[in-house]
Amino acid sequence: MLMNTYQKPDITFVKGEGCYVYTDNNEKYLDFTSGIGVNSLGYNNPQIAQALLSGANLMHLSNLYDTQKDRILADALVDKTGLKSVFFANSGAEANEGAIKLARKYSFDKYGEGRFEIITLKNSFHGRTITTLRATGQDRFHKYFMPFTDGFIYAEANNINDVKEKISSQTCAIMIELVQGEGGVLPLELEFVQELAKICTEQDILLIADEVQTGVGRCGAFCAFLKYDIAPDIVTLAKGLGGGIPIGAIISGEKCKLTFGPSDHASTFGGNPLSCSVANVVVSSMNNEFLNNVQENGNYLLHKLQQIKSSHIKEVRGVGLMIGIELDGLINIDIKNKCMEQNLLVLTAGNNTIRLLPPLIVSKTEIDICVKILEGAL
Ligand SMILES: *Cc1c(COP(=O)(O)O)cnc(C)c1O
Repeated sequence: MLMNTYQKPDITFVKGEGCYVYTDNNEKYLDFTSGIGVNSLGYNNPQIAQALLSGANLMHLSNLYDTQKDRILADALVDKTGLKSVFFANSGAEANEGAIKLARKYSFDKYGEGRFEIITLKNSFHGRTITTLRATGQDRFHKYFMPFTDGFIYAEANNINDVKEKISSQTCAIMIELVQGEGGVLPLELEFVQELAKICTEQDILLIADEVQTGVGRCGAFCAFLKYDIAPDIVTLAKGLGGGIPIGAIISGEKCKLTFGPSDHASTFGGNPLSCSVANVVVSSMNNEFLNNVQENGNYLLHKLQQIKSSHIKEVRGVGLMIGIELDGLINIDIKNKCMEQNLLVLTAGNNTIRLLPPLIVSKTEIDICVKILEGAL
């Protein structure tokens, strides 16, 4: 049996195609979750299938030997982000955990002991390991598993004065999600983010952008930070990066591109040739035309949702194809279940919000279907 950590509906899915998944009774569901922002190119993508097949003869050899695929993917990520060096992990939490280590070592190398503190934002989500739970700025995640890792404090999102007050001689990094995903699809304000980036540069505090959910095309640019016109020191990716294959990445800018040396950090599975080949299919498909299309369809979806006349919608917001509908007087889980009865899969998030993360290849026709079902449910 499985541990009782997930509550699943009583349906079994057996295959997928494009933006649809199919049950064992061959019933078809439109998927606006993409496996929580993972299946960026949809289901059964032929190029991914090809990469999986041709990668089967050398799926893994460990990081003790060169297999080239990790270097190719690293160069592609450097090219897309303008940052400098990459370490591969297997998940978002693991990438963030590595980013925290990287920031602390940078500070240790330069300033010695005691400058270790990391400021994160209230309502953030950074993962489920003991350290990334602590980095998560929500009290409900700080139960049962103590003692948690020390050295994290929380500032209010979009409140630059609160951030300034929390900065001390112990601060080594500030970690943010540009759009808080699990917290309820809450985009940070442009002015706040730019001011934050400026303060970080002035005080040699590393800015870490957790782009596990917002990255790899989700927000209509390769990374959301590009839309904010800032240059973070460290960026983490995971969810959409492998198109369904588990992979995470820590990307470093100039400052800590050489901070990790031999055996400072490692992973058995991280950067294996199979994951890297598949991720390379995803990354190389994200040209300007693809990203503009994500942006255009995101705008279309946002606009259509904003036109729904329902007294139960408090706000529709989002960036690219990462969209939240905050409800008023209805419960998000009930609406999610109503959508499911109409063969539409949606996510929930944060404070009573419906979250939409469709595959990035979604069409306007599929968006129309989704909006119609949501409208009915609301
Ligand atoms: C999902 C998520 C994580 C955790 O990723 P896992 O792969 O589940 O470990 C971390 N940060 C953000 C912003 C996320 O959305």
